[in-house]
Amino acid sequence: MRSDRGTAKSILALTFDDGPSEWTPRILDLLAEHHARATLFILGDGIAAHEQILKRALAEGHELGLHGWSHPHLTELSDAEIRDEMLTTQKAIERATGIVARVWRPPYFEVDERVRQALAGSDLVEASCSIAPEDYHWPAARTATFVIERLRPGAVVDLHDGRPARSGSAETRTATIEALDVILCEMKRRKLQSVPFSQLPALEFGTAT
Ligand SMILES: [Zn+2]
Repeated sequence: MRSDRGTAKSILALTFDDGPSEWTPRILDLLAEHHARATLFILGDGIAAHEQILKRALAEGHELGLHGWSHPHLTELSDAEIRDEMLTTQKAIERATGIVARVWRPPYFEVDERVRQALAGSDLVEASCSIAPEDYHWPAARTATFVIERLRPGAVVDLHDGRPARSGSAETRTATIEALDVILCEMKRRKLQSVPFSQLPALEFGTAT
């Protein structure tokens, strides 16, 4: 199911997975420049080296979500391991910032009913996605064009500010940064505003594409 539902105001959600990382500050700079607020789906194993980035993101009005500790294929884990991936990350974010993250997104969008059941008692909300340009391996121009062609109120855009360990993706996220600049300029032209995922009106929870 997709969640790009029309809204009275021209609001959508930019989201970023796999951070925090050395590329996140530049992403936050661009978002600040354009008065855009976003959701960062955090990997637990990146937190220790980047606690200040998480604090900065919150201070600038962004939302922190959970993306697991080690970017696992959740469907291959036991129920206890699934909970551990998400809840250990949640605790590490809380230790670093004082905030309890409540939205989560499965790595690779790999999720099934067993994974959802394993997390059912944890008071988490699964984040959807309607525009996934796979910015982690495409040049900036391709990512920007892919997103811009699909931008509309209610959209949930999935970009990446980090690179998981052992990832086969591009070595850096500079293409994402470059694409984000173009996307934000186009959003301004079309008077589209980004808010954190949880602030999208009329959300359909529990879906991911
Ligand atoms: Zn990811």
